[in-house]
Amino acid sequence: MDERLVIAASAQEAAKLAASGAGYLAGGTELNRLGSPLHYQRLVSISRVAELRGVEAGDGEVLIGATTSFQEALQSELVPAYLKEALLFMGSRTKRNMATVGGNVAAWRDDSYLAATLLAVGASIELMNESGATRRLSVAEWAQTQPEHRLVRRVIVPADPGWVTSKRYANTMESLSYLVVSLCLHDGAARVALTVKGVGAFVSPELSDAASRGAGEDELVELAYGLDATIPSDMYGSERYKRYLAGVTLARMLEDAGRDDAR
Ligand SMILES: Cc1cc2nc3c(=O)[nH]c(=O)nc-3n(C[C@H](O)[C@H](O)[C@H](O)COP(=O)(O)OP(=O)(O)OC[C@H]3O[C@@H](n4cnc5c(N)ncnc54)[C@H](O)[C@@H]3O)c2cc1C
Repeated sequence: MDERLVIAASAQEAAKLAASGAGYLAGGTELNRLGSPLHYQRLVSISRVAELRGVEAGDGEVLIGATTSFQEALQSELVPAYLKEALLFMGSRTKRNMATVGGNVAAWRDDSYLAATLLAVGASIELMNESGATRRLSVAEWAQTQPEHRLVRRVIVPADPGWVTSKRYANTMESLSYLVVSLCLHDGAARVALTVKGVGAFVSPELSDAASRGAGEDELVELAYGLDATIPSDMYGSERYKRYLAGVTLARMLEDAGRDDAR
């Protein structure tokens, strides 16, 4: 039960208020979702903090303020097309108007819309602590550590990481996804990230190496069968089916990249 709401006027104030254990109320689409596992005694609203909103161009990168909504990011000319592809995985426009990019990264769900794409391109986040100090860490580090109660200030993505594509599998556009596959190709090197429901989001070194070598479908499927992850068989399909889908999807992506002459 969320019992008390405090409205922060600045990012530092928010980080200070939350340091003792409160949650951040951004778009509220996860916090207020029926069945959400997230519950806090105290919430700090960050939606009025101007410095947390908006998109800026950096040196070869794009800095997205944490409370920028999915829809605002989609409408920004600065946000790269590969990220827009992933932002559009959130099919409902109403939800896109509310949900924030920072909230999505902070929640880091095992069916996250953005996690696989952010991992594939080597994105970073900027965190702020209660004294206002900021530090940057890769999304891969974030995936492993997720320091509690730290304010995500910005999500930072490369402007042009190479050829990037992501594919999401769900029963319908509005259903939870059971698999997201993301591929980033740059100068012949590939990084492959997966988000698997029941497992989470991770980079696969095996699939990345194979994709870098231009491996074919059979090899990619074999490698996906052998991935070291406990993938559940559930209403969306068997474990074997999901592994097969990951391998085949990657093979199709590599074919598309070849057609686009990206490698
Ligand atoms: C029907 C439905 C289906 C959904 N399906 C999916 C789905 O398939 N995939 C998916 O990824 N999400 C899904 N969501 C969840 C949600 O819409 C998104 O994850 C959204 O991006 C969360 O952003 P928000 O701003 O609404 O976060 P909030 O609900 O405001 O916050 C979520 C969490 O993030 C923390 N947080 C928020 N902002 C920050 C910040 N700046 N710094 C640190 N912590 C912060 C909060 O403390 C809280 O723990 C679904 C929601 C609904 C209602």
